[in-house]
Amino acid sequence: MQRRPLEPLLAQLERDQLRRQRRTIEGYATAGSHAEPVIAGRRLVDFSSNDYLGLAGHPGPAAAMADCAARCGAGSGASHLISGHGAEHQALEEALALFTGRERALLFSTGYMANLGVVSALAQRGETVLLDRLSHASLIDGALLSGSRFKRYAHADAARARALLCAALHPTSVLATDGVFSMDGDIAPLVELAHAARAHDAWLVVDDAHGIGVLGPTGRGAVELAGLSTQDVPVLVGTLGKAFGSFGAFVAGSAELIELLVQKARPYMYTTALPQPVAAATRAALALAERESWRRERVLALTERFRAAARAAAVPLTASVTPIQPIALGSAHAVMQAQQALSEAGFWVVAIRAPTVPAGQERLRVTLSAAHTESQVDALVEALGRICRETAADGAQERGLDP
Ligand SMILES: *Cc1c(COP(=O)(O)O)cnc(C)c1O
Repeated sequence: MQRRPLEPLLAQLERDQLRRQRRTIEGYATAGSHAEPVIAGRRLVDFSSNDYLGLAGHPGPAAAMADCAARCGAGSGASHLISGHGAEHQALEEALALFTGRERALLFSTGYMANLGVVSALAQRGETVLLDRLSHASLIDGALLSGSRFKRYAHADAARARALLCAALHPTSVLATDGVFSMDGDIAPLVELAHAARAHDAWLVVDDAHGIGVLGPTGRGAVELAGLSTQDVPVLVGTLGKAFGSFGAFVAGSAELIELLVQKARPYMYTTALPQPVAAATRAALALAERESWRRERVLALTERFRAAARAAAVPLTASVTPIQPIALGSAHAVMQAQQALSEAGFWVVAIRAPTVPAGQERLRVTLSAAHTESQVDALVEALGRICRETAADGAQERGLDP
Protein backbone atom coordinates (compact mmCIF):
# COMPACT_ATOMS: atom_id res chain seq x y z
CA MET A 1 0.00 0.00 0.00
CA GLN A 2 1.34 3.38 -0.99
CA ARG A 3 1.00 6.50 1.09
CA ARG A 4 -2.02 8.55 0.18
CA PRO A 5 -1.06 12.17 -0.65
CA LEU A 6 -2.36 14.44 2.10
CA GLU A 7 -2.59 17.72 0.24
CA PRO A 8 -5.83 16.84 -1.65
CA LEU A 9 -7.49 15.85 1.63
CA LEU A 10 -6.68 19.26 3.09
CA ALA A 11 -7.68 21.04 -0.11
CA GLN A 12 -11.06 19.30 -0.04
CA LEU A 13 -11.68 20.48 3.53
CA GLU A 14 -10.81 23.99 2.40
CA ARG A 15 -13.27 23.83 -0.54
CA ASP A 16 -16.03 22.54 1.75
CA GLN A 17 -15.33 25.34 4.23
CA LEU A 18 -14.58 22.64 6.79
CA ARG A 19 -10.92 23.35 7.39
CA ARG A 20 -10.50 24.25 11.04
CA GLN A 21 -8.28 27.01 12.27
CA ARG A 22 -6.68 27.34 15.65
CA ARG A 23 -6.28 30.77 17.15
CA THR A 24 -3.60 31.44 19.71
CA ILE A 25 -4.49 33.18 22.94
CA GLU A 26 -1.69 35.61 23.70
CA GLY A 27 -2.92 36.46 27.17
CA TYR A 28 -5.94 37.72 29.08
CA ALA A 29 -7.07 41.34 29.32
CA THR A 30 -7.93 41.03 33.03
CA ALA A 31 -5.93 39.09 35.59
CA GLY A 32 -7.98 36.35 37.25
CA SER A 33 -10.53 36.02 34.45
CA HIS A 34 -10.61 34.22 31.13
CA ALA A 35 -13.59 36.21 29.87
CA GLU A 36 -11.48 38.43 27.59
CA PRO A 37 -8.61 36.65 25.85
CA VAL A 38 -6.24 38.62 23.64
CA ILE A 39 -5.94 37.26 20.11
CA ALA A 40 -3.79 38.83 17.39
CA GLY A 41 -3.39 41.85 19.63
CA ARG A 42 -7.14 42.37 20.12
CA ARG A 43 -9.23 41.60 23.17
CA LEU A 44 -12.34 39.57 22.45
CA VAL A 45 -15.15 38.53 24.75
CA ASP A 46 -15.07 34.73 24.77
CA PHE A 47 -18.53 33.23 24.29
CA SER A 48 -17.29 29.80 23.24
CA SER A 49 -15.47 28.28 26.20
CA ASN A 50 -16.92 25.76 28.66
CA ASP A 51 -15.78 27.85 31.62
CA TYR A 52 -19.35 28.02 32.95
CA LEU A 53 -18.51 29.06 36.50
CA GLY A 54 -15.68 31.42 35.61
CA LEU A 55 -13.11 29.29 37.45
CA ALA A 56 -10.60 28.63 34.64
CA GLY A 57 -8.76 31.89 35.27
CA HIS A 58 -9.48 32.14 39.00
CA PRO A 59 -6.37 32.72 41.15
CA GLY A 60 -7.45 30.20 43.86
CA PRO A 61 -7.00 26.98 41.88
CA ALA A 62 -3.87 28.46 40.24
CA ALA A 63 -2.35 29.08 43.69
CA ALA A 64 -3.24 25.55 44.82
CA MET A 65 -1.55 24.26 41.68
CA ALA A 66 1.62 26.29 42.27
CA ASP A 67 1.77 25.24 45.91
CA CYS A 68 1.40 21.57 45.04
CA ALA A 69 3.95 21.84 42.23
CA ALA A 70 6.47 23.27 44.69
CA ARG A 71 5.97 20.18 46.87
CA CYS A 72 5.36 17.44 44.25
CA GLY A 73 6.94 18.71 41.05
CA ALA A 74 5.20 18.93 37.69
CA GLY A 75 5.00 15.30 36.67
CA SER A 76 3.60 12.18 38.30
CA GLY A 77 6.23 9.94 36.71
CA ALA A 78 4.16 6.81 36.02
CA SER A 79 0.67 5.46 35.63
CA HIS A 80 -1.61 5.12 38.68
CA LEU A 81 -1.05 1.37 38.88
CA ILE A 82 2.74 1.59 38.70
CA SER A 83 4.02 4.38 40.92
CA GLY A 84 2.18 7.53 39.85
CA HIS A 85 -0.78 7.59 42.26
CA GLY A 86 -0.26 10.37 44.81
CA ALA A 87 -1.94 11.84 47.86
CA GLU A 88 -3.47 14.68 45.80
CA HIS A 89 -5.09 12.20 43.41
CA GLN A 90 -6.43 10.25 46.36
CA ALA A 91 -7.77 13.36 48.10
CA LEU A 92 -9.50 14.52 44.92
CA GLU A 93 -11.10 11.12 44.34
CA GLU A 94 -12.45 11.18 47.89
CA ALA A 95 -13.76 14.73 47.42
CA LEU A 96 -15.47 13.74 44.16
CA ALA A 97 -17.08 10.67 45.75
CA LEU A 98 -18.43 12.91 48.49
CA PHE A 99 -19.58 15.56 45.99
CA THR A 100 -21.47 13.03 43.87
CA GLY A 101 -22.79 11.02 46.83
CA ARG A 102 -21.27 7.78 45.57
CA GLU A 103 -19.07 5.16 47.17
CA ARG A 104 -16.03 5.85 45.06
CA ALA A 105 -14.73 8.02 42.24
CA LEU A 106 -11.86 7.34 39.86
CA LEU A 107 -9.78 10.02 38.16
CA PHE A 108 -9.06 9.80 34.45
CA SER A 109 -6.74 12.08 32.50
CA THR A 110 -9.58 13.35 30.27
CA GLY A 111 -13.29 12.90 29.76
CA TYR A 112 -12.54 11.37 26.40
CA MET A 113 -10.54 8.65 28.13
CA ALA A 114 -13.08 8.20 30.94
CA ASN A 115 -15.79 7.38 28.39
CA LEU A 116 -13.49 5.06 26.45
CA GLY A 117 -12.63 3.33 29.72
CA VAL A 118 -16.13 2.93 31.10
CA VAL A 119 -17.83 1.71 27.94
CA SER A 120 -15.03 -0.66 26.97
CA ALA A 121 -14.82 -2.12 30.49
CA LEU A 122 -18.58 -2.70 30.83
CA ALA A 123 -19.40 -3.95 27.34
CA GLN A 124 -18.00 -7.03 25.70
CA ARG A 125 -17.85 -8.58 22.28
CA GLY A 126 -21.25 -10.04 21.38
CA GLU A 127 -23.12 -7.47 23.44
CA THR A 128 -24.74 -4.24 22.35
CA VAL A 129 -24.06 -0.67 23.44
CA LEU A 130 -27.03 1.64 22.97
CA LEU A 131 -26.34 5.32 22.38
CA ASP A 132 -28.18 8.54 21.61
CA ARG A 133 -27.66 9.61 18.00
CA LEU A 134 -25.99 12.83 19.24
CA SER A 135 -23.76 11.18 21.84
CA HIS A 136 -20.30 12.59 22.32
CA ALA A 137 -17.65 11.05 20.04
CA SER A 138 -15.90 9.50 23.03
CA LEU A 139 -18.90 7.28 23.87
CA ILE A 140 -18.98 6.02 20.29
CA ASP A 141 -15.24 5.42 20.35
CA GLY A 142 -15.65 3.55 23.65
CA ALA A 143 -18.16 1.23 22.00
CA LEU A 144 -15.74 0.70 19.11
CA LEU A 145 -12.89 -0.04 21.51
CA SER A 146 -15.02 -2.61 23.37
CA GLY A 147 -15.54 -4.60 20.18
CA SER A 148 -19.28 -4.77 20.93
CA ARG A 149 -21.85 -3.78 18.37
CA PHE A 150 -23.45 -0.41 18.90
CA LYS A 151 -26.84 0.98 18.02
CA ARG A 152 -28.02 4.53 18.10
CA TYR A 153 -31.53 5.76 18.79
CA ALA A 154 -33.00 9.02 17.50
CA HIS A 155 -31.88 11.96 19.59
CA ALA A 156 -33.52 12.09 23.05
CA ASP A 157 -36.06 9.46 22.02
CA ALA A 158 -36.36 7.37 25.19
CA ALA A 159 -39.31 5.40 23.78
CA ARG A 160 -37.15 4.33 20.86
CA ALA A 161 -34.32 3.40 23.25
CA ARG A 162 -36.75 1.24 25.22
CA ALA A 163 -38.03 -0.41 22.04
CA LEU A 164 -34.48 -1.25 20.96
CA LEU A 165 -33.76 -2.71 24.40
CA CYS A 166 -36.88 -4.91 24.11
CA ALA A 167 -36.15 -6.05 20.57
CA ALA A 168 -32.41 -6.66 20.96
CA LEU A 169 -31.16 -10.03 19.78
CA HIS A 170 -27.99 -9.60 21.75
CA PRO A 171 -27.90 -8.49 25.37
CA THR A 172 -27.54 -4.74 25.78
CA SER A 173 -25.02 -4.22 28.53
CA VAL A 174 -24.66 -0.45 28.34
CA LEU A 175 -27.07 2.40 27.65
CA ALA A 176 -25.04 5.60 27.49
CA THR A 177 -26.09 9.21 27.06
CA ASP A 178 -24.77 12.70 27.54
CA GLY A 179 -26.52 14.45 30.46
CA VAL A 180 -26.44 17.76 28.59
CA PHE A 181 -25.73 17.48 24.88
CA SER A 182 -22.57 19.34 24.09
CA MET A 183 -23.58 20.97 20.80
CA ASP A 184 -27.32 21.41 21.47
CA GLY A 185 -27.43 22.21 25.16
CA ASP A 186 -30.58 20.17 25.73
CA ILE A 187 -30.92 17.76 28.63
CA ALA A 188 -31.37 14.02 28.05
CA PRO A 189 -34.67 12.38 29.11
CA LEU A 190 -32.88 10.79 32.05
CA VAL A 191 -35.94 9.65 34.02
CA GLU A 192 -37.29 7.63 31.08
CA LEU A 193 -33.85 6.27 30.16
CA ALA A 194 -33.24 5.21 33.77
CA HIS A 195 -36.55 3.33 33.77
CA ALA A 196 -35.72 1.57 30.53
CA ALA A 197 -32.20 0.66 31.64
CA ARG A 198 -33.41 -0.74 34.95
CA ALA A 199 -36.19 -2.73 33.31
CA HIS A 200 -33.67 -4.36 30.98
CA ASP A 201 -30.82 -4.61 33.45
CA ALA A 202 -28.41 -2.50 31.39
CA TRP A 203 -25.80 -0.19 32.90
CA LEU A 204 -26.94 3.40 32.48
CA VAL A 205 -23.90 5.61 31.88
CA VAL A 206 -24.54 9.35 32.08
CA ASP A 207 -21.76 11.56 30.78
CA ASP A 208 -22.59 14.84 32.48
CA ALA A 209 -19.62 16.82 31.15
CA HIS A 210 -21.72 19.99 30.77
CA GLY A 211 -24.19 19.54 33.62
CA ILE A 212 -21.97 18.81 36.59
CA GLY A 213 -21.29 21.94 38.66
CA VAL A 214 -24.01 23.87 36.83
CA LEU A 215 -27.41 22.16 37.03
CA GLY A 216 -29.53 20.93 39.91
CA PRO A 217 -30.41 22.58 43.23
CA THR A 218 -26.88 22.03 44.58
CA GLY A 219 -24.92 21.86 41.31
CA ARG A 220 -24.65 18.08 41.18
CA GLY A 221 -25.75 18.17 37.57
CA ALA A 222 -28.42 16.74 35.29
CA VAL A 223 -28.90 13.63 37.44
CA GLU A 224 -29.71 15.76 40.48
CA LEU A 225 -31.98 17.98 38.38
CA ALA A 226 -33.90 14.88 37.27
CA GLY A 227 -34.22 13.71 40.88
CA LEU A 228 -32.57 10.36 40.15
CA SER A 229 -30.79 8.14 42.66
CA THR A 230 -27.44 6.42 42.45
CA GLN A 231 -29.33 3.18 41.69
CA ASP A 232 -31.06 4.86 38.76
CA VAL A 233 -27.76 6.14 37.38
CA PRO A 234 -25.11 3.67 38.51
CA VAL A 235 -22.35 5.17 36.34
CA LEU A 236 -21.73 8.91 36.38
CA VAL A 237 -18.99 10.49 34.28
CA GLY A 238 -18.00 14.08 34.95
CA THR A 239 -15.32 16.28 33.43
CA LEU A 240 -13.13 18.70 35.32
CA GLY A 241 -12.06 20.93 32.43
CA LYS A 242 -15.46 22.58 31.99
CA ALA A 243 -17.42 24.00 34.96
CA PHE A 244 -14.52 23.34 37.34
CA GLY A 245 -12.11 25.18 35.06
CA SER A 246 -9.31 22.66 35.52
CA PHE A 247 -8.46 19.47 33.65
CA GLY A 248 -9.25 15.78 33.83
CA ALA A 249 -12.36 13.73 34.47
CA PHE A 250 -13.83 11.15 36.79
CA VAL A 251 -16.18 8.21 36.96
CA ALA A 252 -18.26 7.87 40.13
CA GLY A 253 -20.23 4.82 41.23
CA SER A 254 -20.20 1.81 43.51
CA ALA A 255 -16.93 0.58 45.02
CA GLU A 256 -17.27 -2.57 42.92
CA LEU A 257 -17.69 -0.65 39.67
CA ILE A 258 -14.66 1.53 40.39
CA GLU A 259 -12.55 -1.48 41.30
CA LEU A 260 -13.46 -3.09 38.00
CA LEU A 261 -12.37 0.06 36.13
CA VAL A 262 -9.06 0.10 37.99
CA GLN A 263 -8.48 -3.48 36.88
CA LYS A 264 -9.92 -3.38 33.36
CA ALA A 265 -10.18 0.10 31.85
CA ARG A 266 -7.32 0.36 29.40
CA PRO A 267 -7.39 4.19 29.12
CA TYR A 268 -6.91 4.20 32.90
CA MET A 269 -4.22 1.56 33.07
CA TYR A 270 -1.95 2.41 30.19
CA THR A 271 -1.34 6.11 30.62
CA THR A 272 0.61 8.41 32.90
CA ALA A 273 -1.32 9.72 35.90
CA LEU A 274 -2.30 13.34 35.48
CA PRO A 275 0.02 15.74 37.34
CA GLN A 276 -0.79 16.10 41.03
CA PRO A 277 -0.80 19.93 40.81
CA VAL A 278 -3.73 19.60 38.38
CA ALA A 279 -5.59 17.49 40.93
CA ALA A 280 -4.82 20.08 43.62
CA ALA A 281 -6.21 22.85 41.40
CA THR A 282 -9.36 20.83 40.80
CA ARG A 283 -9.92 20.24 44.48
CA ALA A 284 -9.64 23.99 45.12
CA ALA A 285 -12.08 24.66 42.26
CA LEU A 286 -14.55 22.11 43.60
CA ALA A 287 -14.47 23.80 47.01
CA LEU A 288 -15.00 27.22 45.37
CA ALA A 289 -17.90 25.96 43.30
CA GLU A 290 -19.56 24.56 46.42
CA ARG A 291 -18.92 27.64 48.56
CA GLU A 292 -19.83 30.19 45.90
CA SER A 293 -23.20 28.94 44.74
CA TRP A 294 -23.76 32.41 43.21
CA ARG A 295 -21.59 31.32 40.28
CA ARG A 296 -24.12 28.71 39.26
CA GLU A 297 -27.04 31.06 39.82
CA ARG A 298 -25.28 33.76 37.83
CA VAL A 299 -24.50 31.70 34.74
CA LEU A 300 -28.12 30.51 34.64
CA ALA A 301 -29.43 34.06 35.12
CA LEU A 302 -27.18 35.30 32.31
CA THR A 303 -28.46 32.45 30.14
CA GLU A 304 -32.03 33.59 30.79
CA ARG A 305 -31.07 37.19 30.04
CA PHE A 306 -29.44 36.12 26.77
CA ARG A 307 -32.53 34.17 25.74
CA ALA A 308 -34.98 36.95 26.54
CA ALA A 309 -32.94 39.53 24.62
CA ALA A 310 -32.31 37.17 21.69
CA ARG A 311 -36.02 36.41 21.43
CA ALA A 312 -36.75 40.14 21.30
CA ALA A 313 -34.10 40.58 18.59
CA ALA A 314 -35.48 37.69 16.49
CA VAL A 315 -32.30 35.62 16.89
CA PRO A 316 -33.33 32.00 16.31
CA LEU A 317 -33.05 30.04 19.55
CA THR A 318 -33.61 26.40 20.46
CA ALA A 319 -35.36 25.09 23.57
CA SER A 320 -32.05 24.75 25.47
CA VAL A 321 -32.15 26.27 28.95
CA THR A 322 -28.52 25.45 29.77
CA PRO A 323 -25.55 27.80 29.19
CA ILE A 324 -25.08 26.14 25.77
CA GLN A 325 -27.15 28.19 23.32
CA PRO A 326 -26.95 27.06 19.68
CA ILE A 327 -27.97 29.44 16.91
CA ALA A 328 -28.62 27.44 13.78
CA LEU A 329 -27.76 29.28 10.57
CA GLY A 330 -28.04 26.28 8.26
CA SER A 331 -24.83 26.27 6.21
CA ALA A 332 -21.07 26.20 6.67
CA HIS A 333 -20.85 29.43 4.66
CA ALA A 334 -23.38 31.29 6.83
CA VAL A 335 -21.81 30.24 10.14
CA MET A 336 -18.30 31.09 8.96
CA GLN A 337 -19.46 34.55 7.86
CA ALA A 338 -21.24 35.08 11.15
CA GLN A 339 -18.18 33.97 13.12
CA GLN A 340 -16.08 36.49 11.21
CA ALA A 341 -18.59 39.32 11.69
CA LEU A 342 -18.80 38.60 15.42
CA SER A 343 -15.03 38.60 15.70
CA GLU A 344 -14.93 42.02 14.06
CA ALA A 345 -17.49 43.19 16.61
CA GLY A 346 -15.25 41.92 19.45
CA PHE A 347 -16.81 38.53 20.23
CA TRP A 348 -15.33 35.08 20.04
CA VAL A 349 -18.11 32.68 19.09
CA VAL A 350 -17.17 29.52 17.27
CA ALA A 351 -18.94 28.12 14.23
CA ILE A 352 -19.70 24.42 14.59
CA ARG A 353 -19.69 22.48 11.35
CA ALA A 354 -19.75 18.88 10.12
CA PRO A 355 -18.74 16.35 11.22
CA THR A 356 -19.23 17.71 14.76
CA VAL A 357 -22.87 18.34 13.82
CA PRO A 358 -24.74 16.95 10.78
CA ALA A 359 -24.40 18.94 7.54
CA GLY A 360 -27.30 21.41 7.29
CA GLN A 361 -27.29 21.92 11.05
CA GLU A 362 -24.29 24.22 11.15
CA ARG A 363 -24.56 26.61 14.03
CA LEU A 364 -22.95 29.18 16.20
CA ARG A 365 -22.47 27.72 19.64
CA VAL A 366 -22.80 30.48 22.21
CA THR A 367 -21.85 29.55 25.75
CA LEU A 368 -22.35 31.70 28.82
CA SER A 369 -20.14 32.02 31.86
CA ALA A 370 -20.47 33.48 35.33
CA ALA A 371 -17.44 35.56 34.32
CA HIS A 372 -19.47 37.52 31.75
CA THR A 373 -21.05 40.86 32.56
CA GLU A 374 -24.65 41.75 31.75
CA SER A 375 -23.48 44.40 29.28
CA GLN A 376 -21.27 41.89 27.44
CA VAL A 377 -24.27 39.62 27.03
CA ASP A 378 -26.46 42.49 25.82
CA ALA A 379 -23.82 43.63 23.33
CA LEU A 380 -23.48 40.08 21.96
CA VAL A 381 -27.24 39.85 21.36
CA GLU A 382 -27.21 43.19 19.57
CA ALA A 383 -24.46 41.98 17.22
CA LEU A 384 -26.23 38.65 16.69
CA GLY A 385 -29.50 40.39 15.84
CA ARG A 386 -27.74 42.46 13.18
CA ILE A 387 -25.99 39.42 11.72
CA CYS A 388 -29.20 37.37 11.60
CA ARG A 389 -31.01 40.16 9.74
CA GLU A 390 -28.16 40.33 7.22
CA THR A 391 -28.09 36.54 6.78
CA ALA A 392 -31.84 36.52 6.18
CA ALA A 393 -31.47 39.31 3.62
CA ASP A 394 -28.65 37.43 1.83
CA GLY A 395 -30.76 34.28 1.72
CA ALA A 396 -33.73 36.16 0.28
CA GLN A 397 -31.51 37.71 -2.40
CA GLU A 398 -30.11 34.32 -3.39
CA ARG A 399 -33.63 33.00 -3.80
CA GLY A 400 -34.48 36.00 -6.00
CA LEU A 401 -36.72 37.64 -3.43
CA ASP A 402 -36.56 41.18 -2.24
CA PRO A 403 -34.74 41.37 1.06
C1 LIG B 1 -15.91 17.67 26.52
C2 LIG B 1 -16.66 16.40 26.58
C3 LIG B 1 -16.03 15.21 26.85
C4 LIG B 1 -14.54 15.10 26.90
O1 LIG B 1 -14.01 15.64 28.04
P1 LIG B 1 -12.49 16.09 28.05
O2 LIG B 1 -12.12 16.14 29.47
O3 LIG B 1 -12.45 17.42 27.38
O4 LIG B 1 -11.73 15.05 27.27
C5 LIG B 1 -16.80 14.08 27.01
N1 LIG B 1 -18.13 14.13 26.88
C6 LIG B 1 -18.78 15.26 26.58
C7 LIG B 1 -20.27 15.25 26.46
C8 LIG B 1 -18.06 16.43 26.41
O5 LIG B 1 -18.68 17.55 26.07
